[in-house]
Parts: sequence; structure tokens; C-alpha cells
Amino acid sequence: MIRITGLNKSFRDNHVLRGVDLQVNRGEVVVILGPSGSGKSTLLRCINYLETFDQGEIRIDNEPIGRQVVGGKVREMPQKELNRMRREVGMVFQSFNLFPHKSVIQNITMAPVSLLGLSREEADRLALDLLRKVGLEEKAYERPSSLSGGQKQRVAIARALAMKPKVLLFDEPTSALDPMTVGEVLQVMRTLAQEGMTMVVVTHEMGFAREVADKVVVMNGGVIIEEDRPENIFTNPSHPQTRLFLRQVL
Ligand code: ATP
Ligand code: MG
Repeated sequence: MIRITGLNKSFRDNHVLRGVDLQVNRGEVVVILGPSGSGKSTLLRCINYLETFDQGEIRIDNEPIGRQVVGGKVREMPQKELNRMRREVGMVFQSFNLFPHKSVIQNITMAPVSLLGLSREEADRLALDLLRKVGLEEKAYERPSSLSGGQKQRVAIARALAMKPKVLLFDEPTSALDPMTVGEVLQVMRTLAQEGMTMVVVTHEMGFAREVADKVVVMNGGVIIEEDRPENIFTNPSHPQTRLFLRQVL
């Protein structure tokens, strides 16, 4: 479903991704771990081309996103095609990024109406279904400001799902939350995983990684130093940097 090969990315002279290869299969949950600055967010942002890259390729269902190297020449993807592909890659951020002056239901229906061409009624019905799924149907007509952090994040997940993405990317979705509301967001994510959603999740929630991930990827210094099933990563990590990292977070 996602195939990343030879990905390299620099910010000026800061070489942030140094040859990342990663494959995510359909229905898989891949959790990315690693210390601050190791390139986790940058990698995630490259997957939907919110961030450009210098070398390598990312294919989604075998279609390269953003840029493609053909016979040594780089071809940038036309904006329209890029937008079409981006719709298939939902993203949930640490900071929710809801529109504050719109109601919860409007936050969810805007993109499906304008980008997928759903009618207002169809979009409302979809939004209410998704709000029910994340346990927030009764908040449909509230403003985001009246919700708790965990509720906002569940709305953000519903909003991402409304575009019927092939894959959902999560960048530390619970890091900004009150500890009381972390669990409700993780529960929604767990349910999505059980339903077969393909997910790539950057998180420091080790319990989630252990229980839900099909594969854990450990980054350090812009490379993937280790990649394995969670039980192996957590009980018998092979890379000394993984051991060091886990000692610090567990
Ligand atoms: P954290 O756990 O703190 O979120 P991370 O693993 O997500 O860290 P990134 O945010 O991907 O790390 O950052 C990797 C490196 O790239 C860091 O050195 C960071 O300073 C740099 N970087 C990230 N975004 C930018 C940017 N927009 N401009 C310049 N440098 C950036
Ligand atoms: Mg980050």
C-alpha cells in the first residue's frame, strides 16, 4: 500500500532523512518510535507530500506521490493530481487543527462537500455516522472550543475519516492531551485498527504500540535502525540505540 524507497531529505545543511526504506501493507498498523529530532514527523509529512524530499520515492498503491524519478529525471506531480492523492492519505496532528469558527459537523462536512462533491444531506449523514462512531454525536452542533482535548481529537479523526482515506497518518495524536482523555482517543484508534484501517502512527504510547501495532519501526538520526513485531522490539531489541531509547521511555 505504501512503499518508501531511498528517501532523503535535508533542511539546508541538516540531513534529516538519510535513506529511509519502509513498506506498509494494507490493513497494517505501523508505529514509529524514536527520540526527538530523529525525523519521525518529517517522514510522516513526506508520505502525503506536505514536505518535499530530495531523493527517493514514495508510492501509494504503486503510484508515486509528489515527484517521480523517470530515467534519472525528476518529474514534479501536477497540483491537481497531488490533491487527488492527498485525499487518500488522511492526517491527524498533535494540535487537532480544527476550524474554530465552524461547528463540529461543519468541520467534518466541508471537505467531503467541496472535494468529493457530496450533497449537504449526504455529508451531514456521513458526519453524524462518524460522530457516532467516535462517540460524539451529541456534540455535532457545538463549536470546537467547547470540547475537551480528547473530544477535539476524536472530531479530527472523524474529519479525516470523512474523506474515506486509504491510510491514516497520526503524528503524536495524544501528546497534547490531558492524561484523562488520552485513553478515549487511543480507544478510537484501536477500533479503527481492528476494522482494518491502514495506519502509520508516531506515538510515545508504548502500551498502544505493544498491543495494536503489527510492526514497530525505530528511527534514530534519520534512519530506521530497527523494524520488527512489537513483541520482539519490546522484549528483545537488537539495536543498542533501541535499548537506550526504550530505557528512557518505559
Ligand atoms: P519530535 O519527537 O520532537 O517530534 P521528530 O522525530 O518528529 O521529533 P522532526 O520534526 O522530523 O523530528 O525533525 C527532524 C529534524 O528536522 C530536526 O533536526 C528538526 O529541527 C528539523 N526540522 C523539522 N522541520 C523543519 C523545518 N520545517 N525547517 C527546518 N528544519 C526542520
Ligand atoms: Mg515530531
